[in-house]
Amino acid sequence: MAETRVPSERYAAIADDLIEHEGWLAPIAHSDVRIAYLSSDAKKTSHGKMVFGQCEKVPDRYKWAVPYDFAIVIYEPNVAGFGEERLRTLMLHELMHVGVYANEDGEEVYKIVPHDLEDFRSIVECFGMDWASAG
Ligand SMILES: [Zn+2]
Repeated sequence: MAETRVPSERYAAIADDLIEHEGWLAPIAHSDVRIAYLSSDAKKTSHGKMVFGQCEKVPDRYKWAVPYDFAIVIYEPNVAGFGEERLRTLMLHELMHVGVYANEDGEEVYKIVPHDLEDFRSIVECFGMDWASAG
């Protein structure tokens, strides 16, 4: 079955609120990074586990066509029944994958922050989440 993704104002609002209020996300707040928030109808799984959300970097070769640097996708069938708080926690997790760095010329460069990065782990542990099945 083909996957359909549509922009979600609801997820954009959750993310905007987190970016404004969560200190962990200050590098995003202080950058020009552009993030699309999408709702997918796919029941995505990975290695047999349900995937709730995913953060994807838009490849540089598509920059001419796509006005975003990252896309955060939430898999709607897999988060059915999530309350507002759990959705916020999921969105925080996905936003933590958005890496904003500066190159030697002081220009912003963007990379996906992997799960095994020490910072990522310590923040996740601080929030007391088991996100083994989160994308
Ligand atoms: Zn993740």
